[in-house]
Amino acid sequence: MELKNLTTFHIGGKAQHYFIVNSLPELQEKLAAIRRKKVKYYILGSGSNILVQDQVLKGAVIKLGPGFTKIRRKNNTLIAGGAVTISRLLSYCRAHNLTGAEFLWGIPGTVGGAVKGNAGTGDKSIADIIKGVSGISGLGNLEQLPVEKLFFSYRGSNIGDIFIITEVELALHKSSKHVIKKNTDKYRQLRSSQPRGYSAGCIFKNPSGQIAGALIEFAGLKGKTSGSAIISPKHANFILNKNGRAKARNVWDLIVLIRKTVQQTSGITLELEIKTWGEFK
Ligand SMILES: Cc1cc2nc3c(=O)[nH]c(=O)nc-3n(C[C@H](O)[C@H](O)[C@H](O)COP(=O)(O)OP(=O)(O)OC[C@H]3O[C@@H](n4cnc5c(N)ncnc54)[C@H](O)[C@@H]3O)c2cc1C
Repeated sequence: MELKNLTTFHIGGKAQHYFIVNSLPELQEKLAAIRRKKVKYYILGSGSNILVQDQVLKGAVIKLGPGFTKIRRKNNTLIAGGAVTISRLLSYCRAHNLTGAEFLWGIPGTVGGAVKGNAGTGDKSIADIIKGVSGISGLGNLEQLPVEKLFFSYRGSNIGDIFIITEVELALHKSSKHVIKKNTDKYRQLRSSQPRGYSAGCIFKNPSGQIAGALIEFAGLKGKTSGSAIISPKHANFILNKNGRAKARNVWDLIVLIRKTVQQTSGITLELEIKTWGEFK
């Protein structure tokens, strides 16, 4: 499977092994096979926060399929499958007059990916509404992690890279269509500064008290290119794959350029927000 077709960057080589799983037993079976083969595995959501190498990716890529897209409701708590997309979660909330998740508007990933990276906007992140997480550990055991066992930081969590999030419990509140629309409109507005096209969203985390995009702009790097990859002239913390033909190598060259130049102009070392899969040097 060509991973470029499964990432929003539209970049990435073939996966050596690729599995779509639709139930817990099927997932456990595949994990047992992966353990026997002793290969590394990667968990793929919507592929909206990853840069995958151009060469064949050794190991296995696991994607949760339609069997993990159910949403259940217990009063104002939602239990969403790990593969539920954020847009579907928000439609469900609107239809059931539930408020509290509107800040996720416009984030193009799954619930599983959002929890792993503590996705958010402005001053809110998904950690603010999580009650618990269920998933499968590397050994294939089903584990329930209540919020007391979870630790979230800015775009990060203590959920290990081989723990597969299969369900997430989210605490919401009953509200009115009017309030939900007002909140949604506020977050929709924030999105207008974002460029359109193939990307993985913001490349770097904002350093404490600073804005990564402003530092990159100050370094004079807006519009710089490598092959078909370009540092967005609209929002400097976005790298775009202009025509769908950029390679991971091109994006990585721009990442290296940004880091080096921002270090020289501002004395700050930018930390990646996106995850890289494969070898990047
Ligand atoms: C245009 C655009 C705008 C964006 N805006 C924002 C924003 O405002 N705020 C923000 O926080 N992010 C933003 N992002 C980044 C991205 O959408 C989020 O990080 C999103 O939560 C990633 O989810 P995903 O399902 O695509 O995960 P993927 O990109 O597929 O994976 C990301 C990481 O999560 C892990 N993962 C995925 N699913 C699971 C699972 N079920 N169990 C365990 N681990 C899993 C992967 O292994 C990987 O380490 C934006 C991206 C784009 C392209």
